[in-house]
Amino acid sequence: METTIILMLLFILTIWIVPIPLGIKKAKQKGFSPHWMWFGIFPLYGLLVFLILCFVPKMKKCANCGEKNKLYAKTCQRCNNAFEESTIIEYKPETKKHRIIKITSIIVAVFVFSIMMIVLLDGTFKNSEIYKMALETLNNNAQAQMILNKEIKSSGSVTGSISTSGSSGNADFSFSVTGSTRKVKVYVIGIKEFDKWRLMKLYIQDKELIKIIDE
Ligand SMILES: [Zn+2]
Repeated sequence: METTIILMLLFILTIWIVPIPLGIKKAKQKGFSPHWMWFGIFPLYGLLVFLILCFVPKMKKCANCGEKNKLYAKTCQRCNNAFEESTIIEYKPETKKHRIIKITSIIVAVFVFSIMMIVLLDGTFKNSEIYKMALETLNNNAQAQMILNKEIKSSGSVTGSISTSGSSGNADFSFSVTGSTRKVKVYVIGIKEFDKWRLMKLYIQDKELIKIIDE
C-alpha cells in the first residue's frame, strides 16, 4: 500500500511539474510568451497548455508593434510593417500526412490522459478510508464469509464517487470482490461526520441483493 501512495505522488508530480519547463521551451520556440506556463500552478493545466503549444503554429513577432504574425507573412497584419526578407518563410499548406499525424497524436494524448485519470482515481478510491472500511467489514462479516469464503479481496476498479469538504463527506460507490468461491459486486454508501467515516449501507449483489449493513 505504501508503495502505491509513493508511486501515485510521483506520478502526480511528474504530470504536474515536467510539462512546465517543456512548455516554457516550446513557447519561446514558437514565439509565444513563456508566461502562459503560469497556468501550470494548477495541476494538469500545465500539461494542457504544453499540449496546446505543441499544436499551435510557430509565430514571429513584429519589430514595430509586437504583433504575432504567421511565419510566411510578408507584412505585419496590424501595422503593415514589412518583414525582412530573411524572416519570410515560404507558405506550405498542411499535407495529408501532416494532418493524419496531428489527429493521431491528439487521439493518443487524449487516450493516455484518460487512462492516467482512471488509474489515478482508482488509486485514490482504494486508498480511501471508507473503501478499506468496507473491505474490512466484509472480511469480518459472517454472511459475507458464507457467500464468498475467506479472504475477500477487491478485484477490478471502483466506480462511483467520494467527496469530502472539511470534516464531512459522502461516499457512494461500487466495486467487485472475489473470495475463494466466487466474484460478486459490492455497493457502499458512507458518510463522514466530524472527521469520521461511517458505513451507512453495504450490500452484496449475488443472485439477489444481500444486506450486510443498513442503518
Ligand atoms: Zn506590426
